[in-house]
Amino acid sequence: MKNIVSEKMYALGSKRSEIRELFEYGKKRIAEVGAENVYDFSLGNPSVPAPDCVKEALTDLICNGDPVALHGYTSAQGDQGVRETCADYIIKTHGTECSANDFYMTCGAAASLTISLSALAQEGDETIVLAPYFPEYQVFIAQAGMNCVEVKCNEEDFQVDFDAFEAALSEHTKAVIINSPNNPSGAVLSENTIKKLASILENAQKKYGRNIFIIADEPYRELVYDDISVPFIPNYYKNTLVCYSFSKSLSLPGERIGYIFVPPASDCHDEVYFAVCGAGRSLGFVCAPSLFQKMVPYCIGKTSDISIYKKNRDLLCNALTEYGYKVVRPDGAFYLFVKTLEEDSRAFCEKAKAHDLLLVASDSFGMPGYCRISYCVSTDMIERALPAFKALAEEYNK
Ligand code: PLP
Repeated sequence: MKNIVSEKMYALGSKRSEIRELFEYGKKRIAEVGAENVYDFSLGNPSVPAPDCVKEALTDLICNGDPVALHGYTSAQGDQGVRETCADYIIKTHGTECSANDFYMTCGAAASLTISLSALAQEGDETIVLAPYFPEYQVFIAQAGMNCVEVKCNEEDFQVDFDAFEAALSEHTKAVIINSPNNPSGAVLSENTIKKLASILENAQKKYGRNIFIIADEPYRELVYDDISVPFIPNYYKNTLVCYSFSKSLSLPGERIGYIFVPPASDCHDEVYFAVCGAGRSLGFVCAPSLFQKMVPYCIGKTSDISIYKKNRDLLCNALTEYGYKVVRPDGAFYLFVKTLEEDSRAFCEKAKAHDLLLVASDSFGMPGYCRISYCVSTDMIERALPAFKALAEEYNK
């Protein structure tokens, strides 16, 4: 039988992402050689437990909350009190004036992104992504009916290549997704980068006579090390939609909770906010999980113990550099983006597999020639994996 389902959706659903494929391979290898002999650096699943405030919140809500309201529908855009808490937090932390009416609670950053893109998309629009980027952007942008335009970052520091960025802007540009701290490079865009980006976009808005939005994808905002600060984009560029998620900061990726913030100073705020509500409705994303919305006031601004990620980063960066790998020390998130020892990153990752090192080839991140190592794993596994990284480097040095 033919044409019974959408070809596009069939293609998306019937083949796993490279990352998931590798994770499944890892499970198979574990069954064959034992968990202690497989070094799985494939997934970005937080490895440290959620902070105590999560347990305290859930216990308090379940033991003392109204059992019907607790699990009932909230407003489509999220519980009013929860959105007020988010607004208070943004005012206190970033000094950005806002209210509950600027927030839309979502099922994590993925939902925040698909809703934001759908809210903005008009026929012929383009969204710029900065490579290396989270591979799902391609899927989300296509689903919104927009075209994706890739711009590669500088390879010395993974900041924006402004010449390439300016060349990519056109009368079709509607949005630019920025993700800082970045998956997969771990880079944090500096204040200078953000200021320059904002100024280029202000000029482009004037030149093309249309609004261009930054979509700030921020699930890693709090995961930064060594006193690095992450500029809050709406304070530099008012036409920003912040797509936030608690998945990584609170180690809750399976619970699906986040929000979209539409700054009140943005041009056409009400139109954009209502389009966000409309996109949430049309995608079936109304009323984010009620229990986890209500956890937010207990936990906003808190994080799980990220000192473990910093320890892992330092251990891996130092050892890999010593073995001859080229690594730009990342300031945030929990990924290392390492130059592969041959041009073909997929071939390199296949050779790594022979050492039971599971590394993700960078081709799907839009920047071939690298591999991504997720260091949200146990420090013990990293220590056990180091001889394998060393042996792999030696294979190329022979
Ligand atoms: N954006 C980036 C850059 C990510 O790395 C991820 C998840 O790994 C997401 C979005 C999706 O996050 P969430 O689990 O909050 O949907």
